[in-house]
Amino acid sequence: MPRYAITTFGCQMNVHDSERMHDVLRRAGYAEAGDPDEADVLVLNTCSVREKAEQKLRSEVGRLARWKRERPDRVLVVAGCVAQQEGERLLKQMRAIDVVVGPDNIPELPGLLGDLALGGLPIARTVFDTEAPRFLAASPPQGASAQGAPGRAPTAFVTIMKGCDERCSFCVVPYTRGPERYRPSDEIVAEIAGLVAAGTREVTLLGQTVNSYRDPLGALPAAPGASPDDPDESEFAALLRRIAADVPGLARLRYTSPHPRHLTPSLILAHAELAVLPRHVHLPVQSGSDRVLRRMIRRYTRAEYVARTRALAAAVPGLSLSTDIIVGFPGETEDDFAATLSLVREVGFKGLFGFKYSRRPHTPALRLPDDVPEDVKGARLSRLFEESEALLSAHLQGLVGTTQEVLVEGRDKERGHGGPGGALWSGRTGRHEIAHIEGAEELDLLGEIVEVAVVRANKHSLQAELTGAARAAARPRQRGGAEPGRPARRALPVLSAEGG
Ligand code: SAM
Repeated sequence: MPRYAITTFGCQMNVHDSERMHDVLRRAGYAEAGDPDEADVLVLNTCSVREKAEQKLRSEVGRLARWKRERPDRVLVVAGCVAQQEGERLLKQMRAIDVVVGPDNIPELPGLLGDLALGGLPIARTVFDTEAPRFLAASPPQGASAQGAPGRAPTAFVTIMKGCDERCSFCVVPYTRGPERYRPSDEIVAEIAGLVAAGTREVTLLGQTVNSYRDPLGALPAAPGASPDDPDESEFAALLRRIAADVPGLARLRYTSPHPRHLTPSLILAHAELAVLPRHVHLPVQSGSDRVLRRMIRRYTRAEYVARTRALAAAVPGLSLSTDIIVGFPGETEDDFAATLSLVREVGFKGLFGFKYSRRPHTPALRLPDDVPEDVKGARLSRLFEESEALLSAHLQGLVGTTQEVLVEGRDKERGHGGPGGALWSGRTGRHEIAHIEGAEELDLLGEIVEVAVVRANKHSLQAELTGAARAAARPRQRGGAEPGRPARRALPVLSAEGG
């Protein structure tokens, strides 16, 4: 059996695409190599949202040229956004690459590898499936029983749309992922029902502007609160309602990334009424300055963002918000940046991904001079993180002594959280705070939603213990039994600052 390995760069969308590539390759008779160095086929699934991510790919291919020289029959595949953006050019620029495959062409990967094995030339396949969009469903989580044994792969991503029709001036996504295409609601519901039957407790709906969703079959009734005259209205709230009604066994339903424009009254009402929606929303704002938001072509003002998030917070008591922010966008002044800091304080974000602006191919902002010096961008990013860390820290401290419900996603060492002790169970609260659970080594908590008492706040996470009732209800871990399943392949971002 030929062996393959996949290295993933970038966002959840890429992590999800990698999972589909695992499925496609396994079905075609490939086996996963324990160590990428031992693979016959190595796939680099790339990201091009920021320049730094693209540079990572180039240095990785440089390193792998040596890996190929050792055994020239090895195959190097470049997939994902850089593949889509560069296409054939990659084959010309980097001779070590054998196959370039775009996000919409994943199902064709085994065929391309087969052609190559028969002596075919290096090939690029980067065609959008605009006419007949394909959405690859996940295979059931590993080790799950048909009855839905809790404990295997408790969280999963489900794609509901691909592409993006926004034209944010900094963003390469419309050029690497194509125009918006939506998945039929029947298919979405069927995939989620299958996952839940196999033990999944939490699903995250994925899309570039996930809340612009419209059912291509027109099968969804209008959601309560939806106004037909509102140009920002979509059928996303209706989809959430259908999932909640048709898959009652689903414990948590998250989504990422929504666009603030589509945070409409119908979506706010869905949050108020659907218990399956946890009390956390990640809502990228990008800047707190109207002047910069206009130049970014974000199509909302600061006041509109604040009004919508206030309405959401009023509808969902205890809601926490996190966001994405770009610093050093062309023309960003100290005053603009001060407006961003004041917005962070005003909204009180509990998590923040911050990025230094980088010029991307094809984007409208290429016409603007990249005039904020690199050291100024760096200093602004540090100030932004100081602000957000202080907010997160105060928030986490405030939770010490409270009880919280945590969905246990795995064990620290497998999930890469590296929490103190390294062998603890960990998971997330409904508000997405990471919680490490102490003193439960002998119990099997994977996939359970357990009540914990928060005993300490770490920098980015909570330290907690099971309550007496949760401990009494938990199953003992079977000695010599299967180790907890492997959601580990999925690198979940922590709810905290991350560099760009
Ligand atoms: N579609 C989502 C949106 O814009 O609301 C997010 C997509 S992107 C994968 C994630 C984040 O990367 C963006 O929210 C933005 O903060 C950041 N980003 C995108 N393009 C960038 C650029 N040219 N330079 C720096 N950061 C960028």
